[in-house]
Amino acid sequence: MKKSCKACLSEKIFSHGYCSKHYNILKNLEKHFKVWSDIYTNNISWNEYLDRLLKLKDTGIYVREVIHAELKKVEK
Ligand SMILES: [Zn+2]
Repeated sequence: MKKSCKACLSEKIFSHGYCSKHYNILKNLEKHFKVWSDIYTNNISWNEYLDRLLKLKDTGIYVREVIHAELKKVEK
């Protein structure tokens, strides 16, 4: 198993296979997902949500790294 962060090459794993920087982003994504699923009355999946974020211009580079890592996990 790879011992580095799922979104970057940092070997300082904090939680869930992420370094602290990317883990904080994941936590924020999960928080926002709850808000989104309320708006869409739970008709949006975690993957759809991440997909939509990828299409937004405002989505930052670190956020994208986490999204790509999360999407990779399920594509296999
Ligand atoms: Zn990282």
